[in-house]
Formats: sequence, structure tokens, C-alpha cells
Amino acid sequence: MSANFPVTKIAESRLREGMDISFGKTFTDHMLVADYANGQWGKVEIIPYQPIPFYPALMALHYGQEIFEGIKAYINKNGETVIFRPDRNFKRFNESAARMEMPEVPEEIFLGGMKQLIALDKDWIPQKDNHSLYIRPFMFATDEYLGVRPSLTYKFIIILSPSGPYFAKPARILVEDHYTRAAPGGVGRAKNAGNYGGSLKAAADAQKKGFDQVLWTDPFEHKWLQEVGAMNVMFVYKDKVVTPSLDEGTVLEGVTRDSAIVVLREMGKSVEERPVNIDELVQEYKNGNLTEAFGTGTAAVVSMIQQLSYRDMDMEFDVANAPVAAELAQRLAAIRTGEAEDAHGWIFRV
Ligand code: PMP
Repeated sequence: MSANFPVTKIAESRLREGMDISFGKTFTDHMLVADYANGQWGKVEIIPYQPIPFYPALMALHYGQEIFEGIKAYINKNGETVIFRPDRNFKRFNESAARMEMPEVPEEIFLGGMKQLIALDKDWIPQKDNHSLYIRPFMFATDEYLGVRPSLTYKFIIILSPSGPYFAKPARILVEDHYTRAAPGGVGRAKNAGNYGGSLKAAADAQKKGFDQVLWTDPFEHKWLQEVGAMNVMFVYKDKVVTPSLDEGTVLEGVTRDSAIVVLREMGKSVEERPVNIDELVQEYKNGNLTEAFGTGTAAVVSMIQQLSYRDMDMEFDVANAPVAAELAQRLAAIRTGEAEDAHGWIFRV
């Protein structure tokens, strides 16, 4: 249900024809802001999108208590404003909060406030095919204090960004065998800012070698596969699809990953969630069994992998002939647009 938090409207909308809606560059007129203090959520309001004043001792800047989510809303083929599985992001957000010793955000603020904000700024949702409104809820520590302990105050904010189609070009991926993103017992499964800051060096080194991103591996042998940048990974064998399991808590539990597993099974594929070792992949590739590799994530939904390299071994994939990934992408798109039935209750109306 949409919430009814107090709204201060912008004097004049900033919405203009021809604005730059490449991913993450433009923000809508309003944002939702909620403040946490004295052990509870207090004021929640929707106000014009604007800078946030803070003191230099803001704890989030020093000790990294910050978590976020990424969700898409769009206009479906019936002209309705809908959001894709925000309940999963809500759950994941509060799991991230728990791991980072931050307070949980109530559903009324996260989901109710999100719907209220989107309804207010709905004119910003691009109406064209494959366009969407990217939703970014986030929370950070706001105590003015130096010293490592959980903050006592927090801000939860939702901002919205209209975005055009995300053309993911087929990716060249390097299997990382030096740097580590996440270890068992660490924060890999939380969507906290530091996971991304810590990943940049490995990605930059890989880019210097001509790759787009790295595929993270376990911290001990650098052989057990985890995930790529902002995507989970899936590998298509002749008779099944395999994807790294979430058991160790080193991989983000992707909403697209979960949706893909459901849809792949509906396509008659058997899907194995289990530890996946790079040696196994290389062997299956050499045997001709490994036919496709792709990533799943909110931004591009399904991203083809054209090359996967591990040390001296380059595995190449024919992305023009990747029937499993192509059918998965098409089926997920049909559920989103409303062309296919929403059999699983994934589509939330605003
Ligand atoms: N892994 C990481 C590290 C990510 O940041 C993302 C993007 N949220 C994903 C996987 C894919 O998750 P989702 O399908 O929920 O977008």
C-alpha cells in the first residue's frame, strides 16, 4: 500500500524534453527522507531533491555504515506504473542492515514511501520500450562522532533516476585470481558501499588487460566462483544450468538471479545452485558441454558473456547463438511488460 507521508512539492518541475537519461545521471523532482534517532524512526517526509548538509565528522564517511538497493519501476503495456519485485529488495535491504549493525527500515517507509514517491514523480518515468525508473533506496550513519561503533542516528533516503535502455555489450570477463571481494563470514552478501569501493582496483587492472569486469573467486584457492561486478553468473551446459550457491554468504542474493532460476525451470531446464569451480568450467568447455555464460542483474537483466579467461585459458562464447540466455531474457521481459502472465506475483502496482 502507498503511504501518506507529508509532501513539500518543488516550486517548478525540472522535467524537460531531451534530458540525459543515460543510467544514473538524472534525478527526479522529489526524494523521500526518513530520520532515525533515539531507537526509532521519526520524521518521514517527501521533499524536493536537494543537497543534504552534514558535518565533516559524519560517521558514514569515516566507518562506512552505508547500505543501498537498486530496483526498477516502469510503465507496462497497459499504461500502469509497476515495480519489479520490490519486496525482495526490501527483505535484502534489512538483511544488509542487520549485517552492518544498522536499524531495520519498516515496510511502510520502504515500500509504502517508495510507491508514494513514484506516484508523485510518475511523469518522469520514460514511456518508451526498455526504459525505466531506477529506484535507489539507501541508508547511512549520521552521528557526528569519531570512534568505531555503530551510529545512533541514521538517514534513510529514496531517490529516483529515469533511465534509458541499458545496452549491455557482450562482456569479456577475467576470472580474478589475486584480489578478493568476499570471504566466508565477511560482508559479501550485504549490499554495502564498501563492497563496491573495494572492487574498483581489480576491475581497473582487468580493464588495462582488455577485460570489462572480473569474476570474483574464493579468497583461498581463487577457484570457487562467486559473482561479477553487479551481476550474478550462470553457466549453461548442454543439459542444465549451473550457478554458484549462496551458502557461504559471499555472494549477493540477486533478485534477477532468483527470477531467472524460476523462469529457467519453467523453460524445462534443470538448475543447479552449488559451488562451481573454475577447473570444472574449463573441463566442460573443453568437452564442448559449456555452451553459454551470462550474468543477471537489475540494470541489464541478462548480460551475455563472450569471453571468460582464467590464467592462460580463454573460453569464447558465441553470443549470437545463446538460445537459453535469449529465451530467458525474452520471457523475463514479457513478464515485466505484462505480455506474459505474472504467475508469481512479481509485479507491484504503484
Ligand atoms: N551482485 C552484486 C554485487 C550486485 O551489486 C548486484 C546488483 N544489485 C547483483 C549481483 C544482481 O542483483 P539484482 O539481480 O538484485 O540486481
